[in-house]
Amino acid sequence: MKILIINAGSSSIKFQLFEMENEKVIAKGACQMIGLADPFIEFKANGREIIKHLPMKDHTQALEAVLDTLLNSELAVIKSFDEISAVGHRCVQGGWLYSESVLITDEVIENLKKTKDISPLHAEANIAGMVGCRKVMPNTPQVVVFDTAFHSTMPEKAFMYGIKYEDYENFHVRKYGFHGTSHRYILGETAKIMGKDPKDIKIVSCHIGNGSSITAISGGKSIDTSMGFTPLEGVMMGTRSGDIDPTVVAFLADKKNKTASQIIDYLNKESGVMGISGVSSDMRELNDAIQKGNERAKLALDMMCYRITKHVGAMLTVLNGADAIVFTAGIGENQEDLREKVLDSLSFVGVKFDREKNNHLPRGTVEEISTPDSKIKVYRIPTNEELLIARDTVEVAKLNN
Ligand code: ADP
Repeated sequence: MKILIINAGSSSIKFQLFEMENEKVIAKGACQMIGLADPFIEFKANGREIIKHLPMKDHTQALEAVLDTLLNSELAVIKSFDEISAVGHRCVQGGWLYSESVLITDEVIENLKKTKDISPLHAEANIAGMVGCRKVMPNTPQVVVFDTAFHSTMPEKAFMYGIKYEDYENFHVRKYGFHGTSHRYILGETAKIMGKDPKDIKIVSCHIGNGSSITAISGGKSIDTSMGFTPLEGVMMGTRSGDIDPTVVAFLADKKNKTASQIIDYLNKESGVMGISGVSSDMRELNDAIQKGNERAKLALDMMCYRITKHVGAMLTVLNGADAIVFTAGIGENQEDLREKVLDSLSFVGVKFDREKNNHLPRGTVEEISTPDSKIKVYRIPTNEELLIARDTVEVAKLNN
C-alpha cells in the first residue's frame, strides 16, 4: 500500500511517497517557487535525483506536476494513480477545532478557513495544498494531520494566557503548541526503547531544529509545551526570538517607525540566532563562525542552550520528575555541545550521561546517552513526522480493514 504525504507551504510543496508494507520512503521531493518566476520540481527515487523546470502557477498545478513525475518521469515509481491508496496532508494549525487527524471533506475545508484568522500564512498554504490535491485526485481518500492536535490535551491552566477571559472566548487566543506530530512520534519511539506503554512514561521531548519546542508528556498526552498561540513563543530559535516581553513590540515599533505586525515579522524572521550572531540561522554556519572566534556567534549558541535549559527545567517541574529526556530534530540530533550544556545543568536532578558517547554519535540512529546510574534516561532519537502522518492516514482512511 502506498501513501503520499503532502506538506504545503506558501510557495513550496514537499512530498514523500511511502510503501507502508515496510514503512520506507520510495520517492520524495519538493516543488519550489510555486506561483513565482521560475518554478521547478526536485525529485529523488532509487538513489537518483532529477530537477525539472515546469509551469506551476498554483498549488493545483504543482500537484499535477508531482503526480506526473511519480508516474511518467525517468524515475517513475508508480504505473497508475490507483496505486496511491490515500494522501496525508500536514496542517500546521488545527486551532480550537481539531484535536485529532480527520478525513478531509468539504466541511473540514470550510472549518479550516476559520483558522485563517489566527494563522493566516500557514492556513492559506495548507488549505491550497488540500484543495489542489482533491482536484487532482478526486477519488483518493485524503487525511489531514495537525501539528497542534497532540497538544489539545493540555489542561486549561497550561494553555490559557493571563489576559481577559473574553478574548479567549471571542478570539480563541490561547496557547496551541506546535511540532505535535514530532513529539507524538518521539513518545512512541521512547516507549518502544524503554519497553513500556506510552501511557506509563513521563518524558521531556526537545524538538530542536529551525523551529524548536520543548514538551512535557505524561499519561501519553502533552500536558505543556513551550510554543504558544504561534510558533514564536518559547526557546530562542534560528530566526525567532522566542519568549520576549510584549512591551518590546510597541517600543520597537515606535523607535523603528514600523507597525506592530512588522515588528512581529522581524521577531519571526530576523531575530534569534540570526539576529544575535549576525552570521546565520543555520547551526553549521554558526559553528564555523564560532571556530573562527566570532564572539557573537558564541553568544547566540550560549543563549540558545541557556533558554532550552530553562524550558527543560520548567517541564521537569511540571511533570514532577521524568523518566526520559529526548533530543530530536536537526540541531537536537546533531549538535553535541548543545546537548552537553543542557545535560550538564541537570546534574542536580541526577542526570548522568556518557560525554564521550554524546560527542561521537553516528548520524540518524536511536541512541541512549545516559549512563546506567542516571536518574533520568537521556536519548537522541531522529524524528519522523512524515511516517506518523502516513500511519495516521492509513488508520483514519480505514485502509487496514
Ligand atoms: P526544521 O525545523 O526546518 O524541520 P530541522 O529539524 O531540519 O529544521 O533542523 C535544521 C537545523 O538543524 C539547522 O539549523 C541546521 O543547521 C541544523 N543541523 C542539521 N545538521 C546538523 C549538524 N550535522 N550539526 C549541527 N546542526 C545541524
